[in-house]
Amino acid sequence: MTKQEQLYEGKAKKVFTTEDPNLLIVDYKDDATAFNGIKKGTIVGKGVINNKMSNRLMQRLEKAGIPTHFVEELSDRETLVKKVTIVPLEVIIRNIAAGSFSKRFGVEEGVVFDSPTIEFSYKNDELGDPLMNDYHAIALKLATREEIETITNYAFAVNRELKAFWAECGVTLVDFKLEFGKTADGTIVLADEISPDTCRLWDSKTGEKLDKDRFRRDMGGVEDAYAEVMKRLNEHI
Ligand code: ADP
Ligand code: UDP
Repeated sequence: MTKQEQLYEGKAKKVFTTEDPNLLIVDYKDDATAFNGIKKGTIVGKGVINNKMSNRLMQRLEKAGIPTHFVEELSDRETLVKKVTIVPLEVIIRNIAAGSFSKRFGVEEGVVFDSPTIEFSYKNDELGDPLMNDYHAIALKLATREEIETITNYAFAVNRELKAFWAECGVTLVDFKLEFGKTADGTIVLADEISPDTCRLWDSKTGEKLDKDRFRRDMGGVEDAYAEVMKRLNEHI
């Protein structure tokens, strides 16, 4: 399968059509953005790490019964995926308070929840991805009640699998964002990526941040942190 036309260039990836109308090629870039594109930069080698990490994790999730868009890794930065219509919701699962949750509710980062939380944001850059609940999503016809139930069940199942896997790697899965899409026959599958761009990952022993917060918060050591989580994943997958 080869790249035909560029369908889309996003902040972190380019998306291309292929000879097969049901398949796309995603090409991961080193570009990094934060705060809805206001902060821009480069994380050298990020595209390769995010491509490979996302693929390894999605293959693991498939084995655990969670359908994903993953088809085949084509190169260091390119992957063949099922073409889906993205459900325009950012699905966020949290195990520990951090980021916008801490800010919104005035809770210190690091407070561990008894059970994970789920929240949805409307995937809309112009509006700044506003928080919304399931009723809002249904009212706006972004998804049906059934689709939201499926997405919710898959999202918590992803959390169970990934939390356990990262724990084996000595990494705490704090929170993460997922995107789901619908294939041509209406099946809901996990799409987009799972990487240090989209997850908060803390070293289980030291609490050191091993994710994009190092870029967002100008902490330095961004490339090293991405390389470290990839190394841990490779040692345990
Ligand atoms: P953004 O659009 O937020 O800047 P990216 O740079 O990651 O993000 O661009 C990738 C785009 O491709 C995203 O809009 C994402 O929703 C979309 N996408 C991810 N997986 C698929 C897929 N399997 N089929 C169609 N679109 C996808
Ligand atoms: N996240 C993401 N894309 C977004 C917003 C959030 O991948 O557009 C991820 C983020 O990396 C973190 C989780 O979702 O792992 C929760 O992010 P939060 O709501 O705390 O927002 P932030 O503090 O990043 O603004």
